[in-house]
Amino acid sequence: MKIAFIGLGNMGGGMAANLVKAGHDVRAFDLSEDALAAAKNNGCTTFTAASEACDGAEAVVSMLPNGEIVKSVYSNDVIGTAPEGAVFLDCSTIDVATAREVIEAASGAGYEMVDAPVSGGIAAANGGTLTFMVGGTTSAFARAKQILEAMGKAVIHAGDAGNGQAAKICNNMLLAIHMIGTCEAFAMAEKLGLDAQTFFDISSVSSGQNWSMTSYCPVPGVGPQSPSDNDYQGGFATALMLKDLRLAMEAAETSDAATPMGARAASIYEDFAGAGNGSLDFSAIIKML
Ligand code: NAD
Repeated sequence: MKIAFIGLGNMGGGMAANLVKAGHDVRAFDLSEDALAAAKNNGCTTFTAASEACDGAEAVVSMLPNGEIVKSVYSNDVIGTAPEGAVFLDCSTIDVATAREVIEAASGAGYEMVDAPVSGGIAAANGGTLTFMVGGTTSAFARAKQILEAMGKAVIHAGDAGNGQAAKICNNMLLAIHMIGTCEAFAMAEKLGLDAQTFFDISSVSSGQNWSMTSYCPVPGVGPQSPSDNDYQGGFATALMLKDLRLAMEAAETSDAATPMGARAASIYEDFAGAGNGSLDFSAIIKML
């Protein structure tokens, strides 16, 4: 397929390369010349404007920083430029309301579109092992799935437009909450004279067991290899967790959902990022606790 790919950063670069490996003709655009040069090396055809990349494309995939940029790229360069019948896939993490607004504008102009945010970081983007949570009609989902399968290990239909973003922020809000809870428990165990490994051995087979403890332990040397074993480098950056928590708090407000723990997690990550720790893995929050 001829696929336009817009946004070739940390995530999009590897995703576009995987579409090339799957045999697609990838027409790439990014504002960054370095990102374009890397995409060219990976077998993409590069363009100097998003509208040029979309011209003649059967599908458009985007992986952009935020909702404002997604809205502007789709309204200025994609909708009305891509050929009739093209399908659009926005894989960026953005707010639910903007995702729904952009999909509505696309469908008003006769295009099918899904929101398809991802779980998994840069390694999963490069390795083609992302999980996609997809919102949109059954027909749009079926078309998107064929493309997304070349970039991920799981493609799940979450329901109507915007539900991919809803799944993503609800999941990440829960992740932030259980990471903070896990860190608090390890920190208090230490103060009470309980060895971290012993606490892990007990809690990981007791009712406190959770993913932050058993798959991504914030204490170095305990549990399987995780960013804590690498001085909290790599993994999922605190700044990105904070971005997702802000989106979750925005969604909680607009949907009138009660999220007292999510709000507390957002404020704790706000403090941690504000103290200059935005680039550390989010499990480094244990340092603050
Ligand atoms: P990034 O900043 O590395 O890449 C974004 C790219 O978009 C950049 O190359 C930038 O030049 C380009 N860009 C910005 N405005 C543009 C425009 N108007 N037209 C064309 N290109 C434009 O960010 P990333 O880490 O690749 O993240 C992309 C998205 O994926 C974000 O929404 C992020 O929340 C989400 N995400 C990231 C991770 C991660 O681990 N990095 C994990 C899951 C989801």
